[in-house]
Amino acid sequence: MIIVPEHAIDGLLTEAECFGAVEQVFASMARRRAGNFPVVREAIGHADALYGFKSGFDRDSLALGLKAGGFWPGNAAKGLTNHQSTVFLFDADTGRCRAVVGGNLLTALRTAAACAISIRHLAREGARVLGMIGAGHQSAFQLRAALAQRPFERVLAWNLHPGMFGRMEAVARERGVPFEVVDLDRLGAEADVVVTITSSFAPILKAAQVRPGTHVACMGTDTRGKQEVEAELLAAATVFTDEVAQSVSLGEAQHAVARGLLAADSIVEIGAVINGDHPGRVSDAEITVFDGTGVGLQDLAVAAVAVDRAVAKGLATEVDF
Ligand code: NAD
Repeated sequence: MIIVPEHAIDGLLTEAECFGAVEQVFASMARRRAGNFPVVREAIGHADALYGFKSGFDRDSLALGLKAGGFWPGNAAKGLTNHQSTVFLFDADTGRCRAVVGGNLLTALRTAAACAISIRHLAREGARVLGMIGAGHQSAFQLRAALAQRPFERVLAWNLHPGMFGRMEAVARERGVPFEVVDLDRLGAEADVVVTITSSFAPILKAAQVRPGTHVACMGTDTRGKQEVEAELLAAATVFTDEVAQSVSLGEAQHAVARGLLAADSIVEIGAVINGDHPGRVSDAEITVFDGTGVGLQDLAVAAVAVDRAVAKGLATEVDF
């Protein structure tokens, strides 16, 4: 069995490798070659922790396994990341455990890859202004991956809590793109692509603030009750997602569907666009929304690449198990 520790993940995979692995598994999901199994998420009644599993199998890549972990709110005081996860990969032919891989950084990378995939396939070719809503841990990963998808000339950012923009400013500087903190009216009026990555439970961006032709990637809503944009925005948009079942139950679309503003069967899996079975954006005036809920197969896809790279670079430990 191969062990790839968390500290070995940094710098192990390129952005392009993450993008390719997640794009492949989204395509397999839409062809029904890959499926996610029901998610388990429980409050364990200790340390205020939420713990669970995301798992699945991709018959194309043979990635089989699970991501186990969750949220330990007291970790920060211990100098640890609150979100903790580990990916376990199994041999699809024998069921033997093939690898154990640190999943914290991989989660950020696979989430940013999903957002980037939506921009690549759904944003207008002429998109030049990127709007970022949210400035937490994930935001810098999202920004870095998004900036690679179009020749963006400006980044406009908004966050509820001030004083958190440092990590995104650093990414924008590294890429040589001007960065400005603005209000939501300006962000919506000027951005061609908007990425939301917050833990909000109430709509931040209103439908009236978004102009025709915008692509909005909603990446923060991954739990029942969370919400980042007004449900009316989804009603006015063509809505794409990683997995419809998650989108309508715990993703951004949960609210629009519950209020009867959006039909569940109108939501398109991004894999169908990748496969060429759906045209994606059909006009420059169309608003597209990507509801990135985060599926276990994304974790397995990037973990499998991490194992290959770690073995190739001599960074993996092999144990007799
Ligand atoms: P974080 O705790 O580091 O940052 C939270 C962000 O949300 C900050 O910008 C904060 O200012 C903002 N925020 C908090 N409460 C808010 C509120 N009431 N209204 C508006 N903004 C608020 O979190 P993170 O690690 O950056 O993750 C951001 C979100 O992304 C979380 O909801 C997380 O669960 C989600 N997430 C989704 C996926 C996915 O696959 N879709 C993967 C990882 C994380």
